[in-house]
Amino acid sequence: MLTRAEIQRFPKAELHCHLDGSIRPHTLREIARGQGEMIHANLMELTRKMVISTNAKNLADCLKPFDFVLPYLQTEGALERAAYDVMEQAAQDGVKYIEIRFAPSLSMEKGLTVAQTINAVAHGIAHGEKVYGIDGNLLVCGMRTEQEHEVAKVFAESKNVNSKLVGVDLAGPEPDGFVDKYKAAFPIIVDGETVQLTLHAGECGCAQNIVDAIHAGSKRVGHGIAAAGNEAVEKLMLENKTCIEGCPTSNVQTHAVASHEAYPFQRWMKQGQQLCINTDNRTVSDTTLTEEYFQMAHHCGMTKDQMRQANLNAINNSFATQAVKDKVAKIITEFEAE
Ligand SMILES: [Zn+2]
Repeated sequence: MLTRAEIQRFPKAELHCHLDGSIRPHTLREIARGQGEMIHANLMELTRKMVISTNAKNLADCLKPFDFVLPYLQTEGALERAAYDVMEQAAQDGVKYIEIRFAPSLSMEKGLTVAQTINAVAHGIAHGEKVYGIDGNLLVCGMRTEQEHEVAKVFAESKNVNSKLVGVDLAGPEPDGFVDKYKAAFPIIVDGETVQLTLHAGECGCAQNIVDAIHAGSKRVGHGIAAAGNEAVEKLMLENKTCIEGCPTSNVQTHAVASHEAYPFQRWMKQGQQLCINTDNRTVSDTTLTEEYFQMAHHCGMTKDQMRQANLNAINNSFATQAVKDKVAKIITEFEAE
């Protein structure tokens, strides 16, 4: 079986990673200090506030860590530092390409504009690229807790702000039928070339949300777990080459799947789905991409060839430029290939 060390060394790509859920506790403390605020908690207490409780029972429990972090993410300096922190973690995790997503509307309480939030995150990513020699891009999330016109406004104000913005998403609690409510907002920014669409769908909600997402032009679905075992939806994903941004540990924590053993890794890989594996939230879920793949090896019998395939699925379905896709795919293909 693959070891954690082997998986860590293996060149990986990650498409689904939330900024606010992935800041390391010591970095958050540093961000707070920079704003003249002291977090009066030792590192262990602080970590406990930022990681999902092991006995989280409902969505409110799962959202607590985000509520704790977001008040500190209201300045350009904080967003830039946070994005750099995620890039640093990615590099240490053996990740060669990462897409980091965040919701501008959650970082505007102190007066930042949408454009300022995007440029700040983009600067943090660019800094990380330069220091660590890896590539990164960003996705903007509209929040499903907001009205359609509010999401449309965020998308409109995101347009052409920064070339690192390569995709948009809708995140937050997942009501059935949400795609219809928001789909008029997608063409405001999604052009299918420089900015593409991915949607959280079938995470806790119904499989029909996945069907709706694909019909609305979503190239990828976040989680997609509701499709597992639903042959009609699986067929639709296969025909459309829809990329499944799988997040196993996150799904276990929110009870979307019963356990890592129950994660449909083998089912989807054997179907030839465009499945890739992701952390969702590095800090909130207390995980790394190495750990996610290790869980798949340990509990789902993932082979090295399958790990290579899943990472090729990730980079090939990324929203990066063709040059970056080719570069990273080559690294993944050639790494210790017999
Ligand atoms: Zn997510």
